[in-house]
Amino acid sequence: VPFLNEADNLPRLIGALERALTPLGLPWELVLVDDGSRDNSLAVAKAELQRRPQLNATLISLSRNFGKEIAIAAGLDAAEGDAVIVMDGDLQDPPEVLAQFIERWRQGIDVVYAIRTKRKESFLKRLAYSSFYRLLQRLSDIEIPLDSGDFGLMDRKVVNALLALPERQRFIRGLRSFVGFRQEGLHYERAGREAGKPKYTLRALIRLAMDGLISFSSAPLNLITYLGLGSCATALMLIGRVLGRAIIGQKPPEGWASTMVVVLFFGSVQLLSFGIIGEYLRRIFLEVKGRPTFLIREVVRS
Ligand code: UDP
Ligand code: MG
Repeated sequence: VPFLNEADNLPRLIGALERALTPLGLPWELVLVDDGSRDNSLAVAKAELQRRPQLNATLISLSRNFGKEIAIAAGLDAAEGDAVIVMDGDLQDPPEVLAQFIERWRQGIDVVYAIRTKRKESFLKRLAYSSFYRLLQRLSDIEIPLDSGDFGLMDRKVVNALLALPERQRFIRGLRSFVGFRQEGLHYERAGREAGKPKYTLRALIRLAMDGLISFSSAPLNLITYLGLGSCATALMLIGRVLGRAIIGQKPPEGWASTMVVVLFFGSVQLLSFGIIGEYLRRIFLEVKGRPTFLIREVVRS
């Protein structure tokens, strides 16, 4: 469970997990990852673990906010179970679904991912999410299931495969699809947030969406080629027209305006292309630097 500033949700979350998992009679551990919270979430989490000495729990505190995807990677690193479930810390992923995950896993499915049938979010946000997932599916080089987030169960072999991937920029739901194995979706209704505000700002969401698209698709690069081909064809036609008029002795077309339009058009196509290439280059740069994915400040074990 990665969390950022979820002091109000953590006690309820831990309680709900205990209620959902204890009846199953399985040994389980709770791995909490504090993604650089600035409120008293860390203290609250520690107090909750202290109040429950029977709970097998690990609390990892990252040295700063690294983002949810990386917090999940830190959690996967620490988890020891035969299967690992990833879920949000704000109770939007209902703990009641965990029993169904585990049942499918016991029947031999390696990855059970949750598919949201309903989102209790504003219309615009829902529209943005749903168009992003559809775009990602169309463009990505691998099949990424629609409307599924990080919430899901992974078998040990899948977790090991994920941990062995060398890349530093981790878009978990994409990588999870990439590794393969036997995967299955499970429908559930996504709850509204229990307390507090969403921790993703619009900017962070756009970054995440760009990461997803660029890490799993070369379509933006193809777009540049098509743009180039299209504008080249247009240019050739225009040249043909100007030359043709000159040959039959007509005056070439006058006009500052048309010249400017053409210059601006090609200028912007070039800048856009640089931007797209730059996004890929930035990722190469980040990977090549080889900095650690995350840094841990503190680990508490109950
Ligand atoms: N989160 C995190 N690091 C971040 C942003 C979010 O660990 O940088 C956690 C957050 O505390 C929550 C989960 O990721 O447990 C999902 O975040 P949020 O509810 O903001 O996203 P949404 O539900 O809107 O997708
Ligand atoms: Mg949420």
